[in-house]
Parts: sequence; C-alpha cells; structure tokens
Amino acid sequence: MDNKGKIIVVAAPSGCGKSTIINALLNDKNCNLNLGFAVSATTRLPREGEKEGVNYYFMSEEAFRKAIADNLFVEYEEVYPGRFYGTLRSEIERITDNGLNIILDIDVNGALGVKNIYGKQALTIFINPPSIDALRQRLENRGTEAADVIDVRISRAKYEISRAPEFDKIIVNDNLDKAINDTRSAMLEFINK
Ligand code: 5GP
Repeated sequence: MDNKGKIIVVAAPSGCGKSTIINALLNDKNCNLNLGFAVSATTRLPREGEKEGVNYYFMSEEAFRKAIADNLFVEYEEVYPGRFYGTLRSEIERITDNGLNIILDIDVNGALGVKNIYGKQALTIFINPPSIDALRQRLENRGTEAADVIDVRISRAKYEISRAPEFDKIIVNDNLDKAINDTRSAMLEFINK
C-alpha cells in the first residue's frame, strides 16, 4: 500500500443513526482515526441547519447532470426518485492525497461500487437498525420528513438491509454507544493492518 489514506465507506438505511456515529468518530480527537469527511453532492433541498459545503454541495439537477457528463463523480446514484447523490473525485483525491483516511456516508449501491473500484484500500461498513419498526419510529421522532417520504425511506431501507451481507462489517445499532465503539474498533483494525 502506498502512503495514500484509506477509504472507509459507511452505509445504512436513513434513520439508523449513521450520521450520529460518523460525527462522533470525526469529533473524537483521541482515537487516531485521522479521518476526513467526503462531502457529497446532491440535488435534494437542504434540511434545516444543513450548510453548503459542510453537509453537502447542493446542486440543481441540471448542474448535477453536467457534473456527470464532465466525469466529476467517482460514483453517483438516484437514491430516491428524482434525488441524485454523488461522490466527487476531487473530494476523494484531496483527502487521501493528504494522507488522511476518508469517510464516505453513501447508499449501499454507491458503497459497493466504491469497494469495486478501490478494493483493499476500502472498508465497507453497514449499520443495521434493530428492526424495521424501530427504524420507522426513529424517522417519525426525527420529524424531518413528511409521512409519504418516510414510507419511501422505509421501502428503500428494506432493499438496503437485503444487501448488508455484501459488506465487510455489519454493526447493529441497538445501543448508540456500543455502535460507536464497534464502528471505531472496525475502523482502527482496518487502518492499522
Ligand atoms: P439524506 O438525504 O438522508 O442525507 O441521504 C439519503 C441517502 O443518500 C443516504 O443513504 C446517504 O448515505 C446517501 N448518500 C449521500 N451522499 C451520497 C453519495 O455521494 N453517493 C451515494 N451513492 N449515496 C449518497
């Protein structure tokens, strides 16, 4: 392996606590993960509190399609009908060329696509909800999505969970602290190997 950083891909159905787990590890200065977060591009609208260039690069569908044509994405997916998300080549290169390990928060198809491209340089982690009912409850409690959007996300979650066996590691989030610790251990083992 050269001195380029490693790539850690975390996928999970929406509402599984994935962002909470990723943020806890990004903010943990004592655990030597040396992580840089790859900001994705998306055509969905910002949620309250989300910032351009921090959570996502928010794009019109036209700008997104132009970026596809210009080959700016390592991978992209229409995760929900009419909602595109993509990993920019420039983000991966900027972070891994600086020797940082990169963390990608992307959907299952994107995650398995990145693994295909980067092979042993990449670790894929799937965060599983304790159950579909628990997931629905979390999405309802979060209150950021309308009821019909929650239904779309639940049916998408069922598909994503069916792909979990294809990941290098599966972490069940039935206890947040334990899920953070298990994710940290999986990442450290991969980075130090
Ligand atoms: P949300 O709208 O909740 O922020 O994200 C919806 C889904 O899109 C999540 O599963 C998230 O991981 C995924 N996603 C975010 N960025 C990307 C990306 O760059 N590529 C792919 N394939 N999926 C992404």
